[in-house]
Amino acid sequence: MHAATRRAIFRRLREANPTPTTELLHTSPFELLVAVMLSAHTTDRSVNAATRALFPVANTPAAIVALGVEGVKPYIRAVGLYNTKSKNLVGLAQALIDRHGGEVPADRDALEALPGVGRKTASIILNMVFGHNEVAVDTHIFRVANRTGLAPGRTPREVEDALIAGTPSEFLKDAHHWLILHGRYVCIARTPKCPTCIIRDLCEYRHKTQASPPAKRTGVSAAIRRNGRRVRRAAAARRRR
Ligand code: SF4
Repeated sequence: MHAATRRAIFRRLREANPTPTTELLHTSPFELLVAVMLSAHTTDRSVNAATRALFPVANTPAAIVALGVEGVKPYIRAVGLYNTKSKNLVGLAQALIDRHGGEVPADRDALEALPGVGRKTASIILNMVFGHNEVAVDTHIFRVANRTGLAPGRTPREVEDALIAGTPSEFLKDAHHWLILHGRYVCIARTPKCPTCIIRDLCEYRHKTQASPPAKRTGVSAAIRRNGRRVRRAAAARRRR
């Protein structure tokens, strides 16, 4: 894809949503870290439902450690893999206390050394909390980057590297959010909404969906139109007599 096209895509995404952000509810770096960690293999909506109950009770590393693994479980039961996530959550809180004075570290290696924290979670924290130009490639971004031709790649890491290298710097900070939201609501997996997509003319996907033909007129309005035609024909016949 030509650099000018990439720039045009991000310009349109920015025009449509000048200040994109995550849909995970949070009020502190620690809450964001917990929410992102819990969001693996599940939806933001189910994470938000869990953290709406958990955070009023425990939203600091010390409070999570005090709650303990069994205490955390009831709050995140609706989130997939809750047994593992409960252990990771308490382990992560303990590690933050032991190694970082209870603060979320601004360093990728330190973040990825925390239980349950991988490259994607670390990228989101570095981007959102510390303002680094990082792109966390999830399933939505992977799909959008490949379909559009923005940053083709066979693995999330290839796509991440291509996005970092090819995205104009003015868009890099927010690229992650624009692409994730575009993939979640427009360029969806099964049937992308190409007819109403704001980057349709710039996208290189060869199998864009088409607008469905207008529905056949049926029902009351069609019956009224048929009746009107009948009345007009009958009036014309009367005039001819
Ligand atoms: S035109 Fe279709 S395939 Fe391309 S980005 Fe838009 S929704 Fe996705």
